[in-house]
Order: sequence, then C-alpha cells, then structure tokens
Amino acid sequence: MANSAESKAPLPRKRLFVTLMGITCLIVVAAIFLAWWIPNRGLANIHPKLPHIVGIIMVVLSGTAILGTGLLVLTTALGKDIFLTRFMRLVVIKFLLPVIELVGRVMGLDKDRIRQSFIAMNNSLVTSQRMRVKPDRILVLLPHCIQLSACEIKVTGDVLKCVQCGRCSIKNIVALGRKYAIDISVATGGTLARKVIVEKKPNLVLAVACERDLTAGIKDCYPLPVIGILNERPSGPCFNTIVDVSVVETVLKGIIRLDDRSEMLPA
Ligand code: SF4
Repeated sequence: MANSAESKAPLPRKRLFVTLMGITCLIVVAAIFLAWWIPNRGLANIHPKLPHIVGIIMVVLSGTAILGTGLLVLTTALGKDIFLTRFMRLVVIKFLLPVIELVGRVMGLDKDRIRQSFIAMNNSLVTSQRMRVKPDRILVLLPHCIQLSACEIKVTGDVLKCVQCGRCSIKNIVALGRKYAIDISVATGGTLARKVIVEKKPNLVLAVACERDLTAGIKDCYPLPVIGILNERPSGPCFNTIVDVSVVETVLKGIIRLDDRSEMLPA
C-alpha cells in the first residue's frame, strides 16, 4: 500500500525558464538600444559628444544584461557556484520572475509551466552553491493535502503522530525524517508555513507543494534557500496529493553535511 502512495514525478526542468530568460534579455537589449537611438538626435543638439557618452552607458547596460544571462545559464548548466550565485538568485526571484511571467503571458504560455521551470532554476542555483547543512538545520515542509483526507489523525503540528499505516506519503516521509534526523512539518497554508520557519530557523528548507505555493514560498523565504519538489495531484488540486519520497531522499543526500550523515539512524 505504501508504494501506491508514491509517484515517479521527476524534478521540474528549467529549460523553459532559460529560454524565456534569453528572450527577456533580447527584449531588454532592444529596449536599451531604442532608448539610446530614438532620442539620439536630440542629445546631439544638447552636446555633440552626448550621443557617444549615452551610447557607452547603453552598451555597458546591454553587456551586463547579456553577461548576467550567460553567467546564470552557465551556473545552472555546470551546477557550480561560479560567481555571485547568491546575488543571481535574488535577481531571478525578485526581478526576473515577474518579467518572465509577463513575457510568458504575452506568448500565451501556461502559468504552471513557467512556475515549474522557475522552481527548477531556483533549485539549480541553490544546489550549485554546494551547501552542506547539518540535519537539524534542515526543515522539510509538507502541504496539508499530502495527508490522506480520510485519516483521523491530525498530523499538522506534530507529524510523528502518524501511526504509519502507509495509506499516504506521510509514512515514508516520517521514516526519512527518522533516518536522517531531520525536522518535518506539515503546514495548512502559507501563513502557518512562515510561522514554522520563523520558529525553527532552518538554514535550508526542502518544500513539497504545488507550483503556485512553491513559487510564492521561494519568493517569501528569500534569502533563505528553498529547494522545491512538486507534489502529484491524481485526485485534483489540494486533495490526497502525493510526493515521490525517493526524490526527497535524493535531494536530502545532496545537502546533508557528510559528518552528520554518518550519524543517521536506521529507517
Ligand atoms: S500514513 Fe499516517 S498520515 Fe497517512 S493515512 Fe496513515 S496514519 Fe494517516
């Protein structure tokens, strides 16, 4: 029964976000060029050298946009913290995402596809920092809908109340928590999730949720690094959702500090 509560959903891919980032970069460069070219004549009237000076500034701005995009793509492609990865995460989360969502909307792309790609890009930037976090500084945050709706036990607040019947993903996630000695919380919404984070003060959050909640959570939590894993919704949104526990474990293995991993408990 336990296996029926697991899915084989892969981690989201970042390709779409990278493509939209490239398109956004081209739009920005074109806008910078037009902003220089259109009033060029007027500038010459003020001073003959002014078009050249403004032109140089515009070239620097365009170069920064192109180099920044290139660096971002290279960082996620190589999975290495090449340069300013933390700052790039800020740029992606706070500035690029709203612009890319707008570009995607104009192109008629599905919102959730863009969000999936954003989550993948964010995950890639977080993991490229190659952080090693002590197990007690990692928080696994689950949505309430991952618990079987027919279960009479209330695991919100204390996931260890689960009696491990195996009818939903909670059983295996609790086993994972015991194995790696990490904290697991189930939150009924964004407000409670924020409260849990404030109370537990983790160094890294591994969050399971839908595209919308993960995107909002990643934005709200910055600069706290969040790795997002999408849940599966075979019964529709917010009802009896599922997570692939093997994916959660793979991510955990990649971030737990080695010294502490040797102290893991048997599952
Ligand atoms: S695994 Fe735990 S939370 Fe899920 S249905 Fe069984 S007792 Fe309830």
